[in-house]
Amino acid sequence: MSDFPASARAVIIGGGIIGCSTAYHLAKLGWKDVVLVERHKLTSGSTWHAAGLVGQLRTSANITQLLKYSVELYNKLEAETGLATGWKMNGGLRLACNEARMTEIKRQATTAHSFGLEMHLLSPKEAQDLWPIMDIGDLVGAAFLPTDGQANPADIAQSLAKGARLAGVKIIEETAVTGIEVVKGRAVAVVTDKGRIAADVIVNCGGQWAREIGALAGVNVPLQSVQHQYIVTEAMAGVPKNLPTLRDPDRLIYFKEEVGGLVMGGYEHNPIPWLPGKDRFALPGNFAFQLLDNDWDHFGQLMEQALARVPTLETAGVKQMINGPESFTPDGNFILGEAPEVKNFYVGAGFNAFGIASGGGAGRALAEWVAGGEPPMDLWPVDIRRFGSVHRDKNWVLTRTLEAYAHHYSMAWPHEELESVRPVRVSPLYARLKEQGAVFGWKLGWERPNWFAPKGVTPKDEYSYERQNWFDHVGAEHKAARERVVLIDQTSFAKFMLVGRDAEAALSWIASNDVAKQPGTIIYTQMLNQRGGIECDLTVTRVAADAYYIVTGTGYATHDFHWIASHIPAGLDARLIDVTSGYGVLSLMGPKARDVLAAVTPSDVSNAAFPFGTAQEIAIGGAMVRALRVTYVGELGWELHIPVETMVAVYDALWAAGQAHGIANAGYRAIESLRLEKFYRAWSSDITPDHSPLEAGMGWAVKLKKNVPFLGREALTALAAKKLPKLLACFTVDDQSVVLLGRETIFRNGKQVGWLASGGYGYTLGTNIGIGYVRDPQNGVSAEDVLRGTYELEIACQRYPAKVSLQPLYDPKMERVKA
Ligand SMILES: Cc1cc2nc3c(=O)[nH]c(=O)nc-3n(C[C@H](O)[C@H](O)[C@H](O)COP(=O)(O)OP(=O)(O)OC[C@H]3O[C@@H](n4cnc5c(N)ncnc54)[C@H](O)[C@@H]3O)c2cc1C
Repeated sequence: MSDFPASARAVIIGGGIIGCSTAYHLAKLGWKDVVLVERHKLTSGSTWHAAGLVGQLRTSANITQLLKYSVELYNKLEAETGLATGWKMNGGLRLACNEARMTEIKRQATTAHSFGLEMHLLSPKEAQDLWPIMDIGDLVGAAFLPTDGQANPADIAQSLAKGARLAGVKIIEETAVTGIEVVKGRAVAVVTDKGRIAADVIVNCGGQWAREIGALAGVNVPLQSVQHQYIVTEAMAGVPKNLPTLRDPDRLIYFKEEVGGLVMGGYEHNPIPWLPGKDRFALPGNFAFQLLDNDWDHFGQLMEQALARVPTLETAGVKQMINGPESFTPDGNFILGEAPEVKNFYVGAGFNAFGIASGGGAGRALAEWVAGGEPPMDLWPVDIRRFGSVHRDKNWVLTRTLEAYAHHYSMAWPHEELESVRPVRVSPLYARLKEQGAVFGWKLGWERPNWFAPKGVTPKDEYSYERQNWFDHVGAEHKAARERVVLIDQTSFAKFMLVGRDAEAALSWIASNDVAKQPGTIIYTQMLNQRGGIECDLTVTRVAADAYYIVTGTGYATHDFHWIASHIPAGLDARLIDVTSGYGVLSLMGPKARDVLAAVTPSDVSNAAFPFGTAQEIAIGGAMVRALRVTYVGELGWELHIPVETMVAVYDALWAAGQAHGIANAGYRAIESLRLEKFYRAWSSDITPDHSPLEAGMGWAVKLKKNVPFLGREALTALAAKKLPKLLACFTVDDQSVVLLGRETIFRNGKQVGWLASGGYGYTLGTNIGIGYVRDPQNGVSAEDVLRGTYELEIACQRYPAKVSLQPLYDPKMERVKA
């Protein structure tokens, strides 16, 4: 090929809606020399056969913003490119057939209001006025999102491709990528069946083939192709052009209007994966504009539900059935961002049957991520770094993905845990804690005790939107931590060693707090991006002149490792090593913690000999343990980092010594309650890459007063010079009938000013507690502004009076509420 490019600034692999949108947005950002390579024709993968519903509401504010942007773009794309998109903003209806679903819908409506999306509650009759051909005999209520809509997926993608071409992108069809060249951990070229293209950046938008494309570069893209079916009917009476889309989750089905008839599909509880390859997982490369065989037997369960909802479907002719494969992921969210394994290799894939809805926004976010070298905003729910080693096992991914698919329209219960392929990673104490009634939760492959069922209580979560069955038992663990002493197995913490002659210099650049301290010092620090936003929130312990021990949250293992490793300045002698599997962690917390520890160790653990914020190696039960004097629950305590093979011996010694003090096991739900009372921030909810330490009220942990450079310093200095656009505050709602979960809308003096980032219950205070930002980007927000206001929280569409605080709510000296 004479005009085949030898090099490009960016090569995008895959000409579905995501590749086209990413190309379009990269070009709009002014990138020249962008090449899109498609193995067949544009849209020939999953895009051409999508149903085309475009809904916007997600549980994350930023992902909802991405989807809102898709709608904004689709509203104007046709005018820009001259290519029709089939986009119409006919609104979206959501039905509830029982009280629990109605509560879910009300909570979703509040979430929508928090995120600036219109969503109205409707009576069954009002819903029927919008959708006259449905039976409403079983409806409890409904909700309507007027700005949702539908599009013609292939046309949207073609229109984006045209926009991209007009802005200079070169699109090469009938060209397959067969290899990726990686040199010294950087992607440098794609190899195709037509030739090689050297590239600064490679973007994998290969849809369900993205896993195989990733593997060419040694990158894991954990997705699984699953069969998804819908039917298209002949024209039906009572189906106007502007009929809203309809989701009926209790019946597992969805509808949209198409040429005067209906499209109807759904999410069955027993999905069928697409496993066509000899090794089951390899997908055929020649699968273009193709469908899988119709499976009417399997579809029957959805058809039955649809007939009950729309009785006239009985006589409607079915024009076509579509059985299309689409990539799904183990947690139902798509996969975006730079691969942690290979620099300059990006992924945008795994769209879980909402790739058309996401197309505009995900393409823009990915383009901005490529252009800026870091995510343009907090994209944690979809960040490729949310995965870990468990996600490298294709069989594991298959089973968990099918479970997530089956849950698509199930009730999304608060605190719900997925159940399949467990346990995988367990602490040495797993069996012992299970014997004592531990109910485990799942985090990045790990089993973690959420709570302990006392004797006679079934150790199992029972989900509801009210107080759940564990509520009082967690209260008892909370009380034990505040008044006596508890042991918490936190073995799943991610643990790294940063070692080398220049470890201090490297960490001083990456961390925003001062880490140039004496060995034995623990430093609580954030790590900031160029915008001053918080990328990591962790503790580092200096263990030697040339070594730091870094501890961070279980779920952030891949993300934080990647962040630190990739920001070590070039030329410095500092290496990051993951030592997670080497150490178990037991947190010994509570006013009696010192008495228990003193009974099992020969070391002096008095406050004078072992002050807060320091670490020592101490002996317990024949094991040498790294003891860190820190707390995330607001009580006297130590985090004990224990060689795994000695974990049981250490636990037994502490447990025996603790008997005299009423020691108890506690789990992660107790930690949550305890930390809310102390207003300790949690990364990924209260603090994220969108929030600076100043806005989060944590300026005290930043070395701005020291004259040393660090990542994010400029942004923070600029921010400190003005009134802040938002400030993190703590809220309480005394009404005991209320359950706070996060995302509830904050009203100040009757005006909407934000939403809760996290919510729960404080047992010592006997009140509901939420944490969220008070926002006023125009005028700025000061502490005085926050405290002057009168507050209400909207919870499931109802407002409740709330009190505000900028200080921890719990003070150890306060009088305790009697449980
Ligand atoms: C039945 C069905 C109904 C759906 N309904 C909806 C809906 O109502 N709303 C919604 O939002 N979403 C829906 N979806 C989902 C939507 O279709 C997808 O999420 C979206 O099309 C994914 O786009 P993509 O660009 O990631 O992947 P694709 O469209 O599959 O594009 C990937 C491209 O990569 C190319 N490629 C692969 N390997 C190579 C290689 N080695 N070299 C070069 N090119 C390569 C492929 O040929 C393909 O064109 C539905 C999906 C199905 C199956």
